[in-house]
Amino acid sequence: MAESKSVKRKFDDVAKAESKPSGTKKFAGHWSQGLLASMNDPDLIVEKDDKLTVIKDKYPKAKHHFLVMPKETIPNLKSLKQEHLDLLKHMEKIARDVAQRTDKKIKFRFGYHAVPSMSHLHLHAISQDFDSPSLKTKKHWNSFTSPYFVDSSEVIKRLEKEHKVDFNQKENTEYLSLDLKCHVCGRPMKNMPSLKSHIRTHSYTCDS
Ligand code: AMP
Ligand code: ZN
Repeated sequence: MAESKSVKRKFDDVAKAESKPSGTKKFAGHWSQGLLASMNDPDLIVEKDDKLTVIKDKYPKAKHHFLVMPKETIPNLKSLKQEHLDLLKHMEKIARDVAQRTDKKIKFRFGYHAVPSMSHLHLHAISQDFDSPSLKTKKHWNSFTSPYFVDSSEVIKRLEKEHKVDFNQKENTEYLSLDLKCHVCGRPMKNMPSLKSHIRTHSYTCDS
């Protein structure tokens, strides 16, 4: 099997392990559709308007991690058309408002995974401390700190310029197996435990 396919499969396995139901409770759909169910889960909903729903990520990879999802059925970035530009700008604006309301001081990024594992378009709003027990693997780390994480502004720019958003799957999936390094100072790290203790030494406030 080609390397990129195997890396993608491993990443999907991690997403699947997070999203599939535990115990004997009957599950109402495929694990990759879990976000649609969570959009209606009152314990996760942070805010709603006529165009979108904001939920807390069920397996947060930082102190604050939200997902902003359109009400319109848009499976992924590839499904975007120029007519969605206003929606994408609105999603980013609301994500920024939620972040500001949650913690004015901490740095956030707002963006999409180039090759998402979950269906239904979702914008991540994630604080840059990455201080969370759910952040466990190299794939998690690289998915939020390498070019695999594409800023919302970049997605909007692409859609404006190219009238579509179609990231190269192979090239992007390879980012997930990059060697570990600190996202602030660039220092190489041997493993996730040393990375996680190292990143606690940095400050993530907006004025740092
Ligand atoms: P991705 O598809 O790679 O952009 O990321 C999917 C995100 O959804 C990850 O950050 C997961 O932690 C999160 N997630 C997975 N399953 C659920 C769920 N059922 N409800 C809410 N968030 C979820
Ligand atoms: Zn560092």
